[in-house]
Parts: sequence; structure tokens; C-alpha cells
Amino acid sequence: MNSEQISIYDAAAVDRIRAEMKFEPRRLRALRTAFFKKFLGAEAAIAELPSEVREAFAARVQFHPLTIVEADDSEIDGATKLVARTAAGYLIETVIMRTGTGRVSLCLSSQVGCAAACQFCATGQMGVAKSLSATEILDQIVLANERLRAEQRQARNIVFMGMGEPFHNEAALYDAVSALLAPELFHHPSRYILVSTVGIPDAMVRCARRFLDINLALSLHSARQDVRERLIPLAAKFPLGDLRTAIAQVNQIQQNTVMIEYLMLASVNDSPQDACELAGWLAGLDVHVNLIPYNPIAGSPGLRSTERPERDAFAAILREAGFVTTIRYSLGADIAAACGQLVQSENRAIAKEQATAGAH
Ligand code: SF4
Repeated sequence: MNSEQISIYDAAAVDRIRAEMKFEPRRLRALRTAFFKKFLGAEAAIAELPSEVREAFAARVQFHPLTIVEADDSEIDGATKLVARTAAGYLIETVIMRTGTGRVSLCLSSQVGCAAACQFCATGQMGVAKSLSATEILDQIVLANERLRAEQRQARNIVFMGMGEPFHNEAALYDAVSALLAPELFHHPSRYILVSTVGIPDAMVRCARRFLDINLALSLHSARQDVRERLIPLAAKFPLGDLRTAIAQVNQIQQNTVMIEYLMLASVNDSPQDACELAGWLAGLDVHVNLIPYNPIAGSPGLRSTERPERDAFAAILREAGFVTTIRYSLGADIAAACGQLVQSENRAIAKEQATAGAH
């Protein structure tokens, strides 16, 4: 965006441009429908305006803050990983997941890198933590859907589960969710939006209060404080007791069931004893447990996924205790869909370059 341009997401500024250019409000509404709801692309959206203002409007309004630099289609399942460059030069990943039933989910990034520094995650090991703007978050949805149009599909589930801890970028997250829900912009149904956190109790409660109908997921990965802290260094700041209280509060505020994400790691968190402790910790909460097989990353050679018999035994203990428990298969193992793997080294290099430039 050059310094004179404004963003298509800045509704008030775009309205002012319309007033200056003196074209009818309905033409701007048609542009927004084409761009945010039908995903026809910027050119087709601009074609909704009177011909005499199109060029001037296009020069003043920026539609895409991101540029796609790579798209990798999985050969074994329905995942596509999009890699996009931000204006600051960093790379982020967005994953399109197509299920056998024809539904499409989008996994969005909210940051470049992540300060949570989880042991099992390439993003956490990037050594960078920069927040994306709301428009950079939203542009991932537009760009992915523009691509899906060729298949006559649209993303139904919007999942904040890619690079970054969404609650470390809370203001932009809320702006993005508000835009997603806004009738004049995306008008996306709230029940198909999910925010996944590694566990920041106050923010979970704030988010539930602000958006009563969107879904929340907690990446728990262990009901033992010491194991959790080993896997997720950030967990040292947020004891399990506070997290449990937060889920209980979310259950009171929202009707929706809270998702509990649990990465299955062999000999780390997958024993029958772990399952019993988890069941005890969850007792009385309205939750749905998702057990997730682990996609290994180069930075953590010591971690491997739980074998199927142990995983099934773990699930059986939870089901026996009365919890709805599903096993989620990670899509895109062959394209490194686990967040951050593809762009880790390049982002490190960019951060280093920028730090060096700043030091001179
Ligand atoms: S798993 Fe999520 S919270 Fe943990 S480091 Fe990776 S992106 Fe951050």
C-alpha cells in the first residue's frame, strides 16, 4: 500500500472516497458483496463501480495487503498450504483443508512466529514474534476463497489455529472477528468461527463475553502442570487451576461446548494415568476432547506420535468417563501443514536482517 492508499477494510474512509467521487451507495455495496461475500477478486469488484471512477478508486484503495508467493497441494489428502508475504517482508501460512464431505476449513495465522514457544511447534521455535494486522488476518480468508472459487467452493469453518497465539494479538483478533461477522463485510455465521488458544485465561473469558456464539478451543496437551510447562513454556504463567476456572466461566457465558485439543505424544502425555488425570481435571465442564496425532518437526527430534493402540485406550478412558472424544487426523503431513514449518528459516533471516538494519 503506498502511503496515500487506504485499506478496503477501512469502511469509514472508503465511504468518504465514495462521497468525494459522487457515486451511489448501492454501487459500493455491490463492490463489497463481490469482494467479501462472493470472492470475485478486486478487479471484478471494481467493475461494480461506475466506469468513470474505477481507475481513480483502484489507485486510492488497497485490496490485498498480502501477496501469495507459494501454494502447495497435498498429494495424499485435501490440504493446500498457501504461503503469503506481508508488507514487512515476513512469510505467513494459511492452510485450506477440504474434508471428504466437501466442507472446507481455513486455518489462519494471527502472528509471524509465536512467543508461546511450544516445544512441538515450528512456529514457536522461529525466534520471532510479530503480530499481524486485522487486515492481514482477513486477507488470508479473501485470498484463500478467491482460489477456492475455481472449485466452486467456499470456506465454511474459519479457524484461528495457524501461526501465532491469537490472544497475544487480541485487538487485531477482535477486529478481524468483528469484520467476519459484520453484515456489510463477510457476514460469516458465528458458529463456524473457532479461536484456539494455548491458554490465556482472562482473554478466553473476555473473548467469550464479546462474541457469545463463536467457538473456543484450548490446546491443553496435559492435565499435569509440569508436563504442560515442558511442552508449552508459556504455561508457567497460567496454572492449570486458572485455566479450569476460565473454562467454567466460558461455559456459563456461552452455550457452545469448549474444544479441548490434546496432542498425543508417545511416553510424554499418553499413559492411562494421564487419561485419568485429564478426565478428573475436566469433570463437570462442558467440553469436547479432540485427540491429535503429532506431525514430527525437525526442531524436536525427541517427540513422536502415540501409536494407535495407546491412543485408542486413552480415548476409551475419556469416553468411559463421559466425555465426547474424537480423534482428529492432521491433514497435509506431506506439505508440512503443521504450522510454521515451511517459513521458519526465511522469517528468521528476515528478522535478523531487519534487526541489523535497525542497529545501524
Ligand atoms: S502451537 Fe500455537 S501457541 Fe504454541 S508456539 Fe505454535 S503457534 Fe504458538
